[in-house]
Amino acid sequence: MALTGTRLEVDLTALAHNFQYLKSKIPEDTLFMSVVKANAYGHGVVPVAQKLQELGTDYFAVAYVEEGVVLRDAGITKPILVLHAQQHTLQTCIDRCLEPVIYSVEMLEAFIAFAKANSQKSYPIHLEFNTGMNRLGIDPNDVPKCIELLNGTAVVKVRGLQSHLAASEDLNERDFTMGQIKSFEHLSNQFEELLGYKCLRHTDNTSGILNYNDGHYNMVRSGIGLYGYGNDLKFDADLRPIGSLKSNISQIRHIKKGESVSYNRSHIAETDMDYAVIPLGHGDGINRIYGYGKSSVRVNGKWAPALGIICMDMFMIDITGIDCKIGDEVVLFDKDHPARDMAEKAGTISYELLTGIQNRVPRYYMG
Ligand SMILES: *Cc1c(COP(=O)(O)O)cnc(C)c1O
Repeated sequence: MALTGTRLEVDLTALAHNFQYLKSKIPEDTLFMSVVKANAYGHGVVPVAQKLQELGTDYFAVAYVEEGVVLRDAGITKPILVLHAQQHTLQTCIDRCLEPVIYSVEMLEAFIAFAKANSQKSYPIHLEFNTGMNRLGIDPNDVPKCIELLNGTAVVKVRGLQSHLAASEDLNERDFTMGQIKSFEHLSNQFEELLGYKCLRHTDNTSGILNYNDGHYNMVRSGIGLYGYGNDLKFDADLRPIGSLKSNISQIRHIKKGESVSYNRSHIAETDMDYAVIPLGHGDGINRIYGYGKSSVRVNGKWAPALGIICMDMFMIDITGIDCKIGDEVVLFDKDHPARDMAEKAGTISYELLTGIQNRVPRYYMG
């Protein structure tokens, strides 16, 4: 039965392809962490994570503790890293067996106190070093203090050391990235030596995997690549977008030259024209930046530009000269017109378009 209505179709066979492709880019003994934050980049976290668990991912990463709880409630049993754990969520980390990334001395102290109060032994944690992203991370100067805290307790054990590459997708910043990799290497060596045991080391996001074959250490953290985008056309050719955003025409109208369409009369017809109403708007994640012709959708194989302002629940497209009728399918993005193209034409990136797709849009899973 053909699907109809506004929907995001998610191809889990394409997800499996992307997973295998990314795995083929790393050494066999390097662990693979699937980043499923922000509702699996908009694709629906539970079915996507279940598929990735079935495919054999070694680890999951989410940004926030609440996202880890959703995975545990859905029966995900693999280790889950929380990239941005916060002090008020540490108890939940322990209750739901989530591994926090510790990014400051204060947080390390707080987590040790929590682990102690919960009678934990060797609770797995990860430490993030700031090597140049200048977002979260422990400063190199704080390493001695961390070691002192860690060597003074048995309630936690460092499972992983991580850093985040700031510019792995930009090959003009190769020197900067190599500098980050070098300083991570130096800090990790020093840290493991003072700690007296080895940890998992992880720095690579998707572009790190694809552009820096030497930065893998023993684990990678990949998000956007799993969903079919490699931040570079040469990698996109080998990946398959897993999401297709589609809808159907609700109404078709004809207006005369000089009449207007949408709020604030934001499109004025230059000639007599036909337009169609699409049941999808900024309340669904198609933001106003896609209006005023900044995006086009496919209708029966032809391109129809968005007219004027995108409304909350719908937008209008120019179908002048396109053979179509009420109920016909429109495609906003799919494998032939990737989310990357739609996003970049409007001045943003695939990540933002995908993660912005709201819960109101039903997801359907194939494969
Ligand atoms: C989101 C995120 C990733 C994944 O990045 P992609 O570019 O989607 O592969 C990896 N590490 C950290 C710290 C992140 O925040």
